[in-house]
Amino acid sequence: MDKIEIYTDTENDRLAAGVRINDKNATVADLLESWQLLCDGSGLFKKYAEGNYAPCKGCLHNCCNTAYVIPDLISFKKMAQYVNCSYKEFISGYFHPSKTGLGLLRLKPDPCIFLKDNICTIYPIRSLICRFYICADLLGDTEQLIYSIVMTGIAAVHLFAEKEGLVDSVSAVGMSSFDMIFKKLIAEYRASSNVELFMRAREYSEIPLLPFL
Ligand code: SF4
Ligand code: SF4
Repeated sequence: MDKIEIYTDTENDRLAAGVRINDKNATVADLLESWQLLCDGSGLFKKYAEGNYAPCKGCLHNCCNTAYVIPDLISFKKMAQYVNCSYKEFISGYFHPSKTGLGLLRLKPDPCIFLKDNICTIYPIRSLICRFYICADLLGDTEQLIYSIVMTGIAAVHLFAEKEGLVDSVSAVGMSSFDMIFKKLIAEYRASSNVELFMRAREYSEIPLLPFL
């Protein structure tokens, strides 16, 4: 039996995708591997995909054009290494300065700084928020699981940036509603003991799923 199964079920009169964890030792890496099937597959209704049934690859709507991407700590470190920058240089070159001033580490958007010719140039090391986003209905429990992992990883990157002195003064002036939502969630999730899992890990395979269930 696979460690993690992807399945569909009806919830609120809609067909939605979910995950079933079959192995208590499964990790975030196992979940990502299974989740990739949803990105690559064409059997699920995707709101913006061509004809609503197509792989994400080659999608012309491309959520990367408008996405609000805050990396989790694992991907943040991998991206900085990939672009051969110190963490401080990475933040000043690749992150949205006005959001950094608000204490939010958002990649430069519209389109995402890593999108070139409609292709993600860092696809294998893209962040959790990118890996898990899919314009399809998800079952409630699965959505909550994904949300919790993504937000914990995002809280961890902000905690790391503070500890390492990577972000300067923080102002609260000029926040959008999206900024406020993220600030609130980061404040909430940084108190979770699961943040330590991200702080200690170098790879998603070192982060167990069990504490998030
Ligand atoms: S998740 Fe993004 S890339 Fe995939 S079909 Fe939807 S809009 Fe396109
Ligand atoms: S990092 Fe890659 S997958 Fe994520 S928004 Fe940017 S281009 Fe898209």
